Amino acid sequence: MKKLIQLLLLLLVCHTLTAQKITLVKKGKSPYTIVMPSKATLVEIEAAKVLQDYLYRITGVTVPTGFDTAEEKPEEILIGKVDRPQTREIVYSDFGRDGLLIRTAGKKLVITGGYKKGIIYGVYTFLDKYLGCRKFAAEVTYVPKKTVISLPVIDDFQLPAFAFRETYYTEVYDPEYMNWHKLHSVSTRGEEKSEWGYFVHTFHTLLNPEEYGQTNPEYFSYYNGERHAGTVPSWDGKSVQPAAQLCLTNPDVLEIVCKNLKAAIDKRPEALYWSVSQNDNVNYCRCEHCAALDEKYAAFKPEEKMLSTHGGEKYPALGMGSLLTFINQVADRFPDKIISTLAYQYTRVPPKGIVPRKNVNIMLCSIESSRNDPMEAGDKPFAEDLIGWGKLTDNILVWDYVIRFSNLLAPFPNLRILQPNLQFLHRNRVSAMFEQGNRDRGGEFANLRAYLISRMLWNPDIDLQKEMDEFLNGYYGAAAPDIKEYINLLHDHNQAGMEVKMSIFGKPADDKETFLSEALLSRYNAIFDRALKKVEKTPDVYVRVKSARLPVYYATLEIAKAEKTGPRGAFDIIDNKLVPKPGIAAMLHEFVYHCVRTGVSRIAEWHTTPKEYLEKYIAFLENPDAQ
Ligand SMILES: [Zn+2]
Repeated sequence: MKKLIQLLLLLLVCHTLTAQKITLVKKGKSPYTIVMPSKATLVEIEAAKVLQDYLYRITGVTVPTGFDTAEEKPEEILIGKVDRPQTREIVYSDFGRDGLLIRTAGKKLVITGGYKKGIIYGVYTFLDKYLGCRKFAAEVTYVPKKTVISLPVIDDFQLPAFAFRETYYTEVYDPEYMNWHKLHSVSTRGEEKSEWGYFVHTFHTLLNPEEYGQTNPEYFSYYNGERHAGTVPSWDGKSVQPAAQLCLTNPDVLEIVCKNLKAAIDKRPEALYWSVSQNDNVNYCRCEHCAALDEKYAAFKPEEKMLSTHGGEKYPALGMGSLLTFINQVADRFPDKIISTLAYQYTRVPPKGIVPRKNVNIMLCSIESSRNDPMEAGDKPFAEDLIGWGKLTDNILVWDYVIRFSNLLAPFPNLRILQPNLQFLHRNRVSAMFEQGNRDRGGEFANLRAYLISRMLWNPDIDLQKEMDEFLNGYYGAAAPDIKEYINLLHDHNQAGMEVKMSIFGKPADDKETFLSEALLSRYNAIFDRALKKVEKTPDVYVRVKSARLPVYYATLEIAKAEKTGPRGAFDIIDNKLVPKPGIAAMLHEFVYHCVRTGVSRIAEWHTTPKEYLEKYIAFLENPDAQ
């Protein structure tokens, strides 16, 4: 009996030892098989293939694949819903659509997850977190070389902080990058069909002012004593846009909107999200019935929540009562869809006495926030509205902006607010994030910002400094310490707490006394001169460091244009004439050359290609008084 107990104890010790560590590959060999379910889905097949490919790239060993119909052996990597004792207890509904599990069980390794992408996300998370692989950019993947792969005991269950995650940067729409960083897309820029049927500003699509403006003016906004049907010229003068909004208490409006929405859904039944949302203006209906609902559900007196348009026009943010009443009615007609609506400008303030239906998505937009401080402290009105909405629903999408729109290549030191913002939004029950970066190629630190944001959308509490250091080392090689020094210097001189707020619509001249002062720009140049020398022999990295320098050139050129003369101006005065400084023209050509070489498509959102920038700047140097 004693011997039996000793034997059992010995077995237990052996078992514990093997449970603590498994070795997938050793000395150029692997006893393992990657096992898929006999009726594997495409995601499971892809997940197995990706794992096999990367194990080969790391070790030079091809681990064979097989199916769970084959006889079980101890050394197996179980991918997805395989039929094995180690997976039978797993409750798949716990994963939602994207959650994942990586677990060792005896000698087995289990990688599985939710019904949509959880399994492939599981494989990429395994490669990243446990094997040290990194996807820094679509074209920059780091794969360590190893002769041995040993794993500790792992029991890693992960759910995303945000259920919907889009990093809107052209650089991310690469199939592997999107799967690696677990990203979605509202558009068709990703590889897959979007889950969004309509995105924003859809009232005019669902009830067309050109179709009904003449015959039924009562369908449209009433204010200043009359109905505002029809259209007005749009901002670019090339097309038209709706003059106002819809009269949301008119019963015919509900019927027409629902009829047209149903027709659109019938064409794309797979899409889950359908935006039924205000047009892009603040001209909401103040007819007797709409105004009564707005007043009934208003949480504030009109004068307490005055907002202003980009043009400075003031208006009370009172419109949500009538809008939400209407949207809830639409949502009741489409219980299997999520009806998304904007809480934006005149509808941003959360109402009182009415809550959104479960299948209503509230989309908030932080366009007005300054980017010096985290939004919780730096934009209190927005933060208050968001907290209020978080008390009414967790079906909230926030559309945030993370770059300087008006000058895509200007230095924009907002890296230190990205994490507190995402943590704040997550705490207040935001479940979906659309992080708007650059719709064009390039832009200041595009790959760095896309990388950090994407990882924080899954988990906003990651160790950001560690993540940033890894990126800098992986992407900028020997120049990493210099790029880090530049980033720190730039951010240390950001205008936190200062009167000039750093907005997404600003320009370099706004910051010429702070983080773009003459003294700092020359320090930045010294850093980049040093950095470029270090990477002369690695052409790929050299190009990346030059790209990181473009904003310093751009800021110098823009400030030179704004100042014209003086130490920072574009011209010397010689014999009472403005003569372009040779250094400015040289910098201009260097700047445009590198933009063209690296595929930078625009210098400002929607406007100004590098070629146009060159032409305009040369015209300015030739004739400064014409500008
Ligand atoms: Zn009305």
